[in-house]
Amino acid sequence: MRLSHSFGKTLREAPAEAELVSHQLLIRANYIRPVGAGMYTFMPFGYRVIRKIWRILAEEMDAIDGQEMWMPNLNPAALWQATGRWNSVDVLFKLKGNGNREYALSATHEEVVVDLALREIESYRDLPRMVYHISKKFRDEPRPRGGLMRLREFIMKDAYTLDRSEAALDEYYPSMIQAYFNVFNRCGVPTVAINADVGAMGGKTSQEFTVPHPQGEDVFIACDNCGYAANVEAAEFVREGERPATLAALTKVETPDCKTIADVAAFIGVPTSQTIKAVFYWWRPRYVETPGEGQLVFALVRGDLAINDTKLVNALGGGFVRAATEDEIRAVGAVPGYASGVGLTPAQGLQSPGVMVMADTSIEYGGNYVVGANEEPYHYTGANYGRDFAVSKLADIAQADTGHKCPVCGGRIEAKRAIEVGHCFKLGTRYSAAVNATYLDENGQPQLIYMGSYGIGLDRLMAVVVELHNDKDGIIWPDSVAPYQVHLVHIGKEGDGTKARAEALYERLLAAGVEVLYDDRDGLGAGVKFKDADLIGIPWRVTVSARSLEQGGVEVKRRSASERQNLTEDQLLGLLKG
Ligand code: ATP
Ligand code: MG
Repeated sequence: MRLSHSFGKTLREAPAEAELVSHQLLIRANYIRPVGAGMYTFMPFGYRVIRKIWRILAEEMDAIDGQEMWMPNLNPAALWQATGRWNSVDVLFKLKGNGNREYALSATHEEVVVDLALREIESYRDLPRMVYHISKKFRDEPRPRGGLMRLREFIMKDAYTLDRSEAALDEYYPSMIQAYFNVFNRCGVPTVAINADVGAMGGKTSQEFTVPHPQGEDVFIACDNCGYAANVEAAEFVREGERPATLAALTKVETPDCKTIADVAAFIGVPTSQTIKAVFYWWRPRYVETPGEGQLVFALVRGDLAINDTKLVNALGGGFVRAATEDEIRAVGAVPGYASGVGLTPAQGLQSPGVMVMADTSIEYGGNYVVGANEEPYHYTGANYGRDFAVSKLADIAQADTGHKCPVCGGRIEAKRAIEVGHCFKLGTRYSAAVNATYLDENGQPQLIYMGSYGIGLDRLMAVVVELHNDKDGIIWPDSVAPYQVHLVHIGKEGDGTKARAEALYERLLAAGVEVLYDDRDGLGAGVKFKDADLIGIPWRVTVSARSLEQGGVEVKRRSASERQNLTEDQLLGLLKG
């Protein structure tokens, strides 16, 4: 490719709002251009990188018996209604066609795959199968950000397994995990696989592939001692603390101007771990709120801990939560800021009258608590679980954090930020049961198909490659995903004979099958051309100039190193081919 013909230009400055290095460099180096919030065009260099990642993904999926196909992005609403996700996936783009026909833009493809499985899979002989495609996904993300990190339209490699049984799925699953490690390693992105929350996908277990990064949106919990790693939405930890030997009497005390846990603890003179934090939520089964649908949930956690909303939702058996309004709280006789379980009658379960009181198990590891008196401005001291208040359910709803005790080895865990680049789900029969996708077993009995689903975002992966491979001058592409292998730079003046030599070398490299970006632009000095080469980040820089010719050939420099060497053209070809 001749730089003099290439579409678009490198830029000196990144857009002001670009905070991530990858966002800045991909724009400056002419890989991507914004079209709207969360929408980008891949410019010709950028699309070449995507195709490189594409090929790696296809090779690794093919190696574990994957069959590549291509599914549509426009889906009939009926497919999404059949699995119940038309109303439960908050980021689903919905649209209406002529005659008010309703469609979804594919946010993911379980719906299409399970519908195909229903039609194509007849008996146990048709299983197992693994299919995948590399295609667009559309998600109405509330906050697109970080250039290619969080988009509304993006490219995903998504693979789907269809199996006879849970055991068969369990047996295949590790080969997918290994293929994921292979993909990321080949792209120069070392990842940590962590246990994650299954979220809107449903199913049994899931592994998230993450890259530790200070600006990552995910938080995961890691134990350096034993290697335990889990997303904070799923991470467990050991509750520490004792029940006091003697229980104090429940006593009402005036606590003026104490609105937070820290205020109350300081006012009374106890550690925050001797208080109970109470948070009101409104729980509902569907993402879309219907008036009158749902229930108030009162969540309790020891005052030194915090509630994790995802863990809470899982403990409730699914659905969605939001902060309850003041009116909703007062309607059950509780007082915002001064609420506690004392005096509340816990309901037996969701959809039953009364207040659903969900408590984290941490409240069992302490006592003589300071809790709200459901009356302003009073708290109780000496409150004890079991004696003074009851709960509907005790569960693991507290967020694990740095310094907590590891659930595996008892060491100390640490919270770290990370970027998620891939996700593997054991879906089980979540989707097949919804549409009754079965196969006939050896005895002619219908059995539900077991599914797995496995996604990697190409755009985000490309951004992460840049996050990990750059310096102050620009991108440093790993060879595996670089848009070109050689950045050929011509430096010289008209009539000094250098241009003809550079042109000839360009033709020779192309003929040898080397991918070359050729800076053939006239009238630009070495400074400008080398700056662009560093910014664009192609692994080998090869310069033809009067000086290089004097020394017998070309000057060769690796983008990742500072040394330059002089080689003959033959030596250069040997180097590139070796
Ligand atoms: P996140 O928690 O970041 O929203 P997710 O759990 O919704 O991700 P999956 O549905 O598991 O993501 O999708 C698989 C992969 O697709 C992710 O690991 C990520 O690489 C990519 N991905 C998901 N959402 C986006 C997005 N909005 N923009 C770019 N890539 C995305
Ligand atoms: Mg998401």
